[in-house]
Amino acid sequence: MSWTLVGQDAAVAVLKGAVANDRVAHAYLFAGPKHVGKTVAALQFAQLLNCTGDEPPCSRCRACERIGGAQHPDVEMMGIGGLCDEQDHKHTPDDSRDIRICQVRRVQHLISRAPYEARYRVIIIEPADALGREATAALLKTLEEPPPYVVFILISDREELLPDTIRSRARRVGFGGAPAALIEQSLRTRWDVEPPRAAELARLSGGRLGWAVAALYDERMMEQREKALNRAEALAAAPLAERFAFAASLGGGYTKDRAGVQATLEVWQEWWRDILLINARREDGAVHRDRLDTLRTLASQCDVAAAVRALRAITDTRQQLAENASPVLALEAMMLALPELRSNAVSQRFAGR
Ligand SMILES: [Zn+2]
Ligand SMILES: [Zn+2]
Repeated sequence: MSWTLVGQDAAVAVLKGAVANDRVAHAYLFAGPKHVGKTVAALQFAQLLNCTGDEPPCSRCRACERIGGAQHPDVEMMGIGGLCDEQDHKHTPDDSRDIRICQVRRVQHLISRAPYEARYRVIIIEPADALGREATAALLKTLEEPPPYVVFILISDREELLPDTIRSRARRVGFGGAPAALIEQSLRTRWDVEPPRAAELARLSGGRLGWAVAALYDERMMEQREKALNRAEALAAAPLAERFAFAASLGGGYTKDRAGVQATLEVWQEWWRDILLINARREDGAVHRDRLDTLRTLASQCDVAAAVRALRAITDTRQQLAENASPVLALEAMMLALPELRSNAVSQRFAGR
């Protein structure tokens, strides 16, 4: 037994039960936040389905090894900018926004033949919410009458964007955040992280082991996070003109770096959630403990309702950006909804920046 997921026992139980009871569905929807293990779970489910070892997924047999290394001919990943069969198409993850119908056609062609060597052909579609309209329609046809040896796994952290027609044909498997203690333990035992750092990363991870592990290997993630937090603090006490100037620069860069802008807004959400927690007298739950002094000062100037409004404004803005609203306009509207706080501590700290 070698599931390497942390804190996803319910999801693992569903998948193991399906195989044990010989009730494998033709399509699954793995739904839940980013970085909690949905992709890892999809690969391990593909291993479970095709493992030839004694204790599936054994991770050591030929099938498990090749699936784990993304080299199995019967396990296919379909994503934004992925492969298609058209000679003159050159879509790449960088210049594409969605999963196209030509990619679905390629998979339809693949699954028209039985697997080369596995029991099941597994098609992993991620992010499933990026399927374009035509691609969705084409996929739907296949989901209505899939060959018996095919299992589709649709992965999404925004399942509400998937059409009902797709959702109703896939069995939903929910993934959630894991308790910080489990993440800390996993970082210490499996990644040999020193205890203080493991505790810090577990706290910052918000229940997402994948985020914590990525932060271990990518120092820029922590730097960008610090930058976003400094910015959140500065803007909370900044006049509207300054907020609009930042909305213009952040929004102007959105088409080049969608993920970066979303990540900044995600950090802001956490930061406002901390303010909310402090105001609701639940400071223990605050994530940014190294910034508590400033957070307390700012929290003392707004009430729970204002913090809730700020949080909702940021959440709505992230959604609008994902739906291709004008980035600058959406961010300006958000800036208007953030309460304007005053803090000597903050204005001194950021004087001259
Ligand atoms: Zn195996
Ligand atoms: Zn194409």
